[in-house]
Amino acid sequence: MTRYTYHCRDIGYDCSFEFEATEKKDLLPRIKIHSKYAHQIFEMSPEMEKKIEAAIRQAD
Ligand SMILES: [Zn+2]
Repeated sequence: MTRYTYHCRDIGYDCSFEFEATEKKDLLPRIKIHSKYAHQIFEMSPEMEKKIEAAIRQAD
């Protein structure tokens, strides 16, 4: 089954948080919540969203 993974450190944070989901669209809301509480990103810019999307990896 295809899985999507995201590692917070991949976008430059000194953070060991990792996310995994079977659908890519399920990742972003969770990453947003984590970014808010862990990294004080209250308004995510489109640039930031792109950076995150680019860091999401597909694993089979
Ligand atoms: Zn993080």
